[in-house]
Amino acid sequence: PSTEKLLEVNNIEVIYNHVILVLKGVSLHVPKGGIVALLGGNGAGKTTTLKAISGLLKSERGDITKGSVSYRGADLAGRDPADLVRSGVIQVMEGRHCFEHLTVEENLLTGAYTRKDGKGAIAADLEMVYDYFPRIKERRKSLAGYTSGGEQQMVAMGRALMSRPETVLLDEPSMGLAPQLVEQIFEIVKKINEEQGVTILLAEQNTNVALRYAHYGYILESGRVVMDGPAAELRENPDVKEFYLGMS
Ligand code: ATP
Repeated sequence: PSTEKLLEVNNIEVIYNHVILVLKGVSLHVPKGGIVALLGGNGAGKTTTLKAISGLLKSERGDITKGSVSYRGADLAGRDPADLVRSGVIQVMEGRHCFEHLTVEENLLTGAYTRKDGKGAIAADLEMVYDYFPRIKERRKSLAGYTSGGEQQMVAMGRALMSRPETVLLDEPSMGLAPQLVEQIFEIVKKINEEQGVTILLAEQNTNVALRYAHYGYILESGRVVMDGPAAELRENPDVKEFYLGMS
């Protein structure tokens, strides 16, 4: 990753429904070409942080009441998710969110809806997605609702890639998947980062796997960043080992 700060979150406070204070001053930055992990337990505020960036917070009655989010130096306040996708930032939501009644391929093509380049470029990208995820190529004519959890995660990631993103916000890619599949998904994340130059900010409860693939990590507890550092350092930190890696 470069040293250029692509995405900057500056001391944000987020409140849901005007009363529930969830983020209490979160700051982080993501360099261009980096893989950054947001770590922490259930309810720490990882998903809320991603939604504050992608603009999805508004549809949940959440507001950024302090601080700012900027991308390439431009303030993102008030931008909606479709604007963000046009600027190259897309969120892959937790729980996959495929269109169950569309085929796998139709799901992937919905990801290209903001693009203005021709059909040829979109067809080429579909092939690129199938190269990363051969397993969903085999299932391209199946209804997404009939595919497995792992396949749906791949469809959700593939659909995001179809928008030609510069940055992907990936929420809990490991959720509900068997360990071997988790490893496969993270291998693909790494490949996409290295080969396509896609910048990645991911939220993960699985600290172990996330710190093996990310370059840098932030640990959130109750809406605050309690620790951050290069992934290799966090992996060796005694507190991280004790509280997050399940060993002392
Ligand atoms: P998880 O792994 O469970 O998604 P997380 O770290 O991503 O955890 P968030 O989903 O950001 O955490 O939730 C942080 C806190 O905000 C939790 O206490 C949660 O109950 C609360 N919260 C999340 N969404 C809403 C909402 N739409 N309205 C009110 N409170 C919410």
